[in-house]
Amino acid sequence: MAKSSGGSDYDLIFKLVLIGDSSVGKSNLLLRFTRNEFRLDTQSTIGVEFAYKQLIIDGKKIKTQVWDTAGQERFKTVIPQFYRGSEGALAVFDLTKPESFDHITVWIEELHRHTPPDLPIVLVGNKSDLVDQRKVSRQQATALAEQLNISYMETSALNASNVEQAFITVVTGIFYKKIPKSV
Ligand code: GDP
Ligand code: MG
Repeated sequence: MAKSSGGSDYDLIFKLVLIGDSSVGKSNLLLRFTRNEFRLDTQSTIGVEFAYKQLIIDGKKIKTQVWDTAGQERFKTVIPQFYRGSEGALAVFDLTKPESFDHITVWIEELHRHTPPDLPIVLVGNKSDLVDQRKVSRQQATALAEQLNISYMETSALNASNVEQAFITVVTGIFYKKIPKSV
């Protein structure tokens, strides 16, 4: 069971990264998760590099530090410091942009060049609110996730659908890797 908390002290701190093509909604997923906000245009806002959110998992306060590419991905040169020390990732594509889905394997390969191969990753199909413009099916995405042996979730940063759940899935994965569930 996990829920949000506003406290400032914590038991554990985890670094997560958001990866995926430009304009898939990474910055808005971060804004929704950490501040419950949404922006119609964040293209030019090369703003925060990371933001924090506290979660409680199994009674432990987890300080989650989420790194955004801060626009670097537009130039296809995400600096190594971005990945360094990350323990989980959300690999995001836009459900209305098939190219962004095709690029997921490239993003995950790049991630694995900098991180351990077994780090928890959730494949995120964002913009689920744009139902009429959808171009990537749930079956296609699920098949890729199975092939990569990761979870798949569909989110909307716009209407806050599944956003917290996607982050919690990664954080929970990291948590139980460090502290195995007692039987
Ligand atoms: P980033 O480049 O991956 O960080 O993407 P942004 O967060 O900057 O979003 C790119 C554009 O998509 C912006 O115009 C956002 O308002 C829009 N956007 C992001 N998430 C969603 C979503 O869930 N639904 C819809 N309809 N638009 C979104
Ligand atoms: Mg961005």
